[in-house]
This record gives sequence, structure tokens and C-alpha cells, in this order.
Amino acid sequence: MTQNQTPAGVIETDAVIVGAGPVGLFQVFELGLLEIKAHIIDSLAYPGGQCIELYPDKPIYDIPALPVVTGKELTDNLLKQIEPFGATFHLGQEVTTVEKQDDGRFFVATSKGTQFLTKTIFIAGGVGSFQPRTLKVDGIDKFE
Ligand SMILES: Cc1cc2nc3c(=O)[nH]c(=O)nc-3n(C[C@H](O)[C@H](O)[C@H](O)COP(=O)(O)OP(=O)(O)OC[C@H]3O[C@@H](n4cnc5c(N)ncnc54)[C@H](O)[C@@H]3O)c2cc1C
Repeated sequence: MTQNQTPAGVIETDAVIVGAGPVGLFQVFELGLLEIKAHIIDSLAYPGGQCIELYPDKPIYDIPALPVVTGKELTDNLLKQIEPFGATFHLGQEVTTVEKQDDGRFFVATSKGTQFLTKTIFIAGGVGSFQPRTLKVDGIDKFE
């Protein structure tokens, strides 16, 4: 795609964040301080990354100024903290394409067909894109 082609439906933005784990969520805050609104994408259907997917109830003891907080509480606090910055969430979709354009922007596309042209991209993908591990049983697909 070249600079002069922006098909209808492509979201033009200043910032795209890949990954809505704790790092991606706090990136919304840092960009917000610069008055930059972000679009944030995650393959999970909800924000929080490992904290919410793997250990929502486990206590965490190494967050500055919080003697103890669970994975869910940390996620909820981060979401509260970034509320004023009005990020747009695109959940349940994986970033499958990132292409640098001639004009310096990045073309980003997801598994659901959402497309962006963004001036900046922040990769906060942690250990990678969460995917469901499905049972390997014949005929299981009709129950998914
Ligand atoms: C059991 C367990 C206990 C832990 N306990 C602690 C603790 O007590 N203290 C501590 O400091 N740390 C702990 N950690 C580590 C901590 O959870 C991670 O360091 C932290 O989650 C990293 O945050 P992140 O935002 O970088 O990545 P993640 O939390 O991994 O989030 C990355 C997100 O990016 C998404 N993503 C990646 N690629 C794509 C893509 N292409 N398209 C769309 N989405 C994508 C993923 O789906 C994911 O939601 C623990 C980890 C585990 C597993």
C-alpha cells in the first residue's frame, strides 16, 4: 500500500499497541501523558495478559507501592488508571501483518480483518499471542 491509497475502513491513527497485558496497558498511560490516543489489540477477549489469563487470583508482591495485589486487581487498577486516556480496544483478534509503508507509517492487520495505518507501533506481546488449546477429539469442532 502506498501513501496515497487509504481504502475505506482503514483506521488511521498515531499509535497502535500490540498486546493488552500489563506492559501494553501502561503504554496507554505513557502515550496519554503525551496526549496521544492509542488503539490496543489483543488475541484474548479481555485485557490483562498473563496476569488475568494465567493467575488472576495469585498474589503479586513485587509491584512498587502495592504490598500485595492479585493478577486481577493489578489489571483492574491498570484499566482504571488509563480510563482518562480513552484508548480503543480491539480484543479477540491477533495481529497477523505489520508492514512499513513508504511514508514511514505502519500498515497493521488482524485476524478479524481490522486494519490500521499508524505512525507508531508498540510491541508489548510478552510471551506471545494467547491461543486456546483445543481438545484433539474427532467431531469436537461442533461443540467449540
Ligand atoms: C504463573 C505466573 C506468575 C507470575 N507471577 C509474577 C509475579 O508475582 N510478579 C511479577 O512481576 N511477574 C510475575 N509473572 C510474570 C508477569 O506476568 C509477566 O512478566 C507479565 O505478564 C508481562 O507482561 P507483558 O504485558 O509484557 O506480557 P503478557 O502479560 O504476556 O501480555 C502480552 C499480551 O500480548 C498479546 N499478544 C501477543 N502477540 C500478539 C499478537 N500478535 N496479536 C494480538 N495479541 C498479541 C497476548 O495475547 C497477551 O495478552 C508471572 C507469570 C506467570 C505465568
